[in-house]
Amino acid sequence: MADLAPSAVPPGHSAVAHRVHGWCALCDARGYAKETMAWRVRENRREDAARALADAPPNTGVEIQLIVNTPSGPVDLGTHRFARVPDEGARRG
Ligand SMILES: [Zn+2]
Repeated sequence: MADLAPSAVPPGHSAVAHRVHGWCALCDARGYAKETMAWRVRENRREDAARALADAPPNTGVEIQLIVNTPSGPVDLGTHRFARVPDEGARRG
């Protein structure tokens, strides 16, 4: 994930899109349709990962593929295993 200082974002560009995707609609004439698609893909992946984790039995893990969008395209960070642990109330019984 790009980690640009606010001053590194060109004037008029979306700071949040640069922080999350590494680019925005105004970069290289990508356009709002591409940026909207990038947000939808990101949110769908987040939703899928959250559901997989929520549905996993406690103390078991799920494997989630992490992909980040960069100005030169998506970068696959590989598959990582995450585990859902019981919350404090569930541990107390
Ligand atoms: Zn931009």
